[in-house]
Amino acid sequence: MKIVSVATHVLRHQLEQAFDSAFSTFHDRWACLVEIGTDAGVVGWGECLGPAGPNAALVEAMAGRLIGRDPLDIEPIWADIYNQFRDQGQRGATMTAQSGIDIALWDIAGKHFGAPIHRLLGGAHRTSIPAYATGGFRPVGRDRVATVVEEVKGYMAAGFSATKIKIGFSVADDLALIAAVREAIGPGARLMIDANHGYDAIEAIALGNKAAHFDIDWFEEPVVPETLDAYCDVRARQPLPVAGGETWHGRLAFTQAIEKRAVDILQPDVCGCGGITEMKKIFALAETAGVRVVPHVWGTGVALAASLHMLAVLPPAPLRHGARSPWLEFDQTHNPYRQAILSTPIVQKGGRVAVPLKPGLGIDIVPEIVAQYRVGGSTSE
Ligand SMILES: [Mg+2]
Repeated sequence: MKIVSVATHVLRHQLEQAFDSAFSTFHDRWACLVEIGTDAGVVGWGECLGPAGPNAALVEAMAGRLIGRDPLDIEPIWADIYNQFRDQGQRGATMTAQSGIDIALWDIAGKHFGAPIHRLLGGAHRTSIPAYATGGFRPVGRDRVATVVEEVKGYMAAGFSATKIKIGFSVADDLALIAAVREAIGPGARLMIDANHGYDAIEAIALGNKAAHFDIDWFEEPVVPETLDAYCDVRARQPLPVAGGETWHGRLAFTQAIEKRAVDILQPDVCGCGGITEMKKIFALAETAGVRVVPHVWGTGVALAASLHMLAVLPPAPLRHGARSPWLEFDQTHNPYRQAILSTPIVQKGGRVAVPLKPGLGIDIVPEIVAQYRVGGSTSE
């Protein structure tokens, strides 16, 4: 089997209602999908986290190293691309682009061997994953507390028992939102907060101390991700478990965070950290060091499917009766193509999502829907 084509698909939907994270405003939903074709007719799909245009350009730049190769040489291909782009790469968009390629190769491998990716990775520890609803962004032009309270109530009504909301705007405003959301979802539901690195360490420490009595599972990205020492300060001087890692790329970045004990919870994203190949290694590093992993997920059904296979193989640590399962991050903000590109959508029932069982990623892409939202991309042959 040989790779005969590498295509990128840049998808866009202009949002009817914009929303803010701490440092950015979402006016559109963007995605970069990777489609790799073979002479055997097997096609693999992947997705890149982050800016879609740069990801597509980098995948196109890497495509020449893929054409003509055996797609089952996943590790040698990973090493070759990393090596060729190392001098100006290692992290950032080169790694998010490489992640999308790697996922597509695993999809091909699974289809070739007639097995879901989690089987190729050694088998699943679990067949369904508890999901938490990600949302709670600051709406543009609407009352923040009222809008987010209504939103999280909807998640609970839909069957979720956990949600993550966005903070990082100002300590006082964020505390008011956290209080209102805890009141709205009740004492039994799980609540996480994500500052999207909108605070400095002083603010993050103040927020964490003042929010501790709201029973919060983790405090995500309190400070900018490149300041590992600031992460350590936040972790030492406030009581909430600290989470981070969605912008860390490659096993070296995770090794550095682990060695410093910068976070309680590592959050690698399979579409950003280097793909399935690299994420398996990051899992091993975390397990060896005794650091909890709860992957970050943000994207289309391709990203969701890839993440579900990784969540299935994440070792229970510790293994015990009724061992704790990691959470699936399930973005609930508006994105009309997230599920529409799949012939069978990935859904939660009672707050749980089943791990796909069909070969490869276990999903079928609907080309007409991809075409409907496609605003860019290229094909290399
Ligand atoms: Mg986050």
